[in-house]
Amino acid sequence: MTKTIQSALISVYYKDGLDKIVKLLHAHNVQIFSTGGTQSFIEELGIPVTAVEDLTSYPSIFGGRVKTLHPKVFGGILYRRDNEGDIQTAAQFEIPSIDLVIVDLYPFKETVASGASEEDIIEKIDIGGISLIRGAAKNFNDVLIVSSRNQYDDVFEILQSKGCATDLEDRRRYAMEGFGMSSQYDTAIHAYFSGDVYTQTQNFAALPQKVLRYGENPHQAATFYGDLDKMFEQIHGKELSYNNLMDVEACVRLIDEFEETSFVIIKHNNACGVASAPTAKEAYVNALACDPVSAFGGVIITNTHVDVATAEELHKLFFEILIAPSFDEEALNILKKKKDRRLLIRKPVEVSKKQFRTLLNGVLEQDKDNTIETGKDFKLATEKAPTEAEVKALEFALKICKHLKSNNVVLAKDGQLLACGVGQTSRVDALKQAIEKANTFGFDLKGAAMASEAFFPFPDCVEIAHEAGITAVVQPGGSIRDQDSIDFCNKNGVAMVLTGVRHFLH
Ligand code: 5GP
Repeated sequence: MTKTIQSALISVYYKDGLDKIVKLLHAHNVQIFSTGGTQSFIEELGIPVTAVEDLTSYPSIFGGRVKTLHPKVFGGILYRRDNEGDIQTAAQFEIPSIDLVIVDLYPFKETVASGASEEDIIEKIDIGGISLIRGAAKNFNDVLIVSSRNQYDDVFEILQSKGCATDLEDRRRYAMEGFGMSSQYDTAIHAYFSGDVYTQTQNFAALPQKVLRYGENPHQAATFYGDLDKMFEQIHGKELSYNNLMDVEACVRLIDEFEETSFVIIKHNNACGVASAPTAKEAYVNALACDPVSAFGGVIITNTHVDVATAEELHKLFFEILIAPSFDEEALNILKKKKDRRLLIRKPVEVSKKQFRTLLNGVLEQDKDNTIETGKDFKLATEKAPTEAEVKALEFALKICKHLKSNNVVLAKDGQLLACGVGQTSRVDALKQAIEKANTFGFDLKGAAMASEAFFPFPDCVEIAHEAGITAVVQPGGSIRDQDSIDFCNKNGVAMVLTGVRHFLH
């Protein structure tokens, strides 16, 4: 049903953009009620406005904690215009009809994000505003609720085109958005009180939102929920894209496995270069050597300071992003020569240990794969034990293996990723891909270590690995045909250890 607006209550925190709506309402002789700051704003436009205080006969009290919380305000919003009893009660208590409510809530999330004191944060919990939104949304049959300044343009169009009237359909849609707003607002308050990064991640609606230029492809709209500035300081280059963020996440996950000086190069979420070495430059050069073709346009992370020597090497490569805990001033000057190249300083902030993904019409939640096995967890399966150097290589390979798309196989030696096969539907294909890549980039696989994120269902992988020169293997074990692989290793002098822990990644 179409309803013409005759009176409005406006109480907004940010006044920007409100003027054109107020002028339109005034042009249609709408009576406007308003709270202190909003009232002054409207008066300055030269438009008549009635103070809510004059309606309620109460001033704004307790430092603004109670402004609109009064039966004359809420009665005016909530009474049913088609109910005889409600109409009589409204008349009896001189409750005016309020047909339009415009609210912009206290900026709670922004206040928290600004690092304000707890006292200031608590004062930014809007009480009256949220009640106005819920009350007006409940009575959408009679009232239009505008609950966000993002709606100003849209509501202006509606009111202008319909002669300051709304249809039931408009009011119901705005009610839906109003309840969305109140639920997000309270979610943010809940997340703040819980004080827990994981709760905040789960309540993603409570997180700051950043609309991205587009999603995975230019025709896909996308938003990032979270506070990137808390984790990184971007010191150079273009804004991060959706795909950049995906790769940054893959970078962070993988580099966090390493304590020794290391570099990781990521391409489309998978590693195409990883190395640990005594110096940053060596680690980078060795990481790049793994697959310099894939590294083109990649995303790079290190857990160490970037010095001039390393920056000079890095500068030779076209890459999208470099993330490091710190940079030499001179190193930055070198790296900044490419204007679009994104340079990020990673801050020492804990990363959520939970993971969410939408699926079908629902959401999957799981703990991230937060464990990794080291030499002391390895269970020897073969007669031959891996040498000390092989154990180190197996540990190194396993860390990478955990962060590559399944099915994968990792070949490594001396703190360097030699090659990997990723995202294959068969493990044999992953291994063949890895061997071919290693050959392409000139690596000798003799004495190399192999890691597999899941068990070998048949002995074919160890057969192919042995033929390529691999001498040590780590895998979870657990296949009914484990013994076939173990027998082959025993016959051919290959050492194999089992972890008992699978690391699928999809
Ligand atoms: P103004 O600047 O007009 O004085 O205040 C506008 C703000 O007050 C809006 O953000 C609105 O949501 C909020 N507000 C309106 N009524 C109440 C109330 O009764 N209590 C509190 N705490 N906030 C209110």
